[in-house]
Amino acid sequence: MKIGILSRNAKLYSTRRLVEAAEAAGHEAHVIDHLRCYMNINSRTPSIHFRGEALEGFDAVIPRIGASVTFYGTAVLRQFEMMGVYPLNESVAISRSRDKLRSMQLLARKGIDLPITGFANKPGDIPDMLDMNAGPPMVLKLLEGTQGIGVVLAETRKAAESVMQAFMGLKANIMVQEFIKESGGADIRCFVIGDRVWAAMKRQGAEGEFRSNLHRGGSASLVRITPDERAIAVKAAKTMGLNVAGVDILRSDRGPLVLEVNSSPGLEGIEKATKKDVAGGIITFIEKNARNNRTKTRGKG
Ligand code: ADP
Ligand code: MG
Repeated sequence: MKIGILSRNAKLYSTRRLVEAAEAAGHEAHVIDHLRCYMNINSRTPSIHFRGEALEGFDAVIPRIGASVTFYGTAVLRQFEMMGVYPLNESVAISRSRDKLRSMQLLARKGIDLPITGFANKPGDIPDMLDMNAGPPMVLKLLEGTQGIGVVLAETRKAAESVMQAFMGLKANIMVQEFIKESGGADIRCFVIGDRVWAAMKRQGAEGEFRSNLHRGGSASLVRITPDERAIAVKAAKTMGLNVAGVDILRSDRGPLVLEVNSSPGLEGIEKATKKDVAGGIITFIEKNARNNRTKTRGKG
């Protein structure tokens, strides 16, 4: 097969591992910087060009689109879908997962347990919205944040109110969430491929830090997950319409709660912590599922 990896940097661990795994399985792998792709949108022969040449003959593409370039990256991916190329994750599902609020609503609709989450538009509505939540302390989150940046713990109700008002004053979208204290600064990253959890790791925040993101100094270790956790992770990925996803779970007193579903989960942390060949798992999934024109939406929506 001819597989395209949409990634801005061929040297990144995840990109390198996907190329390696594709080649090890006898496929041709091309790293394509999606920001350098340009497109001709028309009804008969949609095309994509890269440095003066048409991109043709691809059987599948693996999108590795960073949060800061979702708009252009998903447009390029959509163009591949219109050309009938099989996307590991579809553009529509990626766009969906990039909006935290929309994701939470979709997950809640399918009966997936989440931390209690609130959102308001007017500063004047904040006090009442905070009353609807649990705490203090409470977690405040910027809707567009990633890697733990934009996630704040407000120890008191007064602090929560003033931080939210300050962010709203800056026109930033911010949500409030019940603080799951019992998870002890740790969460579980489940790496879902198709209908199974391929690998799982526990991420523990640095001393005195409630955010477990590896980018914020958290450390990863192998963890055995429960059948409930396995089931909720697979269901969350499916609900978002993602074939491959990093589903983050908090262990709470009332069972596993889904925190977020990531559509371009990194491979480095999980492969190193679990010693599992996650890149190989992704290539095997593509071998089993990639067919021309086999997308749910073919760029619709
Ligand atoms: P990001 O997209 O920036 O990673 P997250 O929502 O995943 O934002 O939050 C970052 C980290 O903060 C999580 O991995 C988790 O460790 C911690 N965290 C987030 N929300 C909560 C919460 N409601 N209760 C307890 N810890 C939380
Ligand atoms: Mg996170």
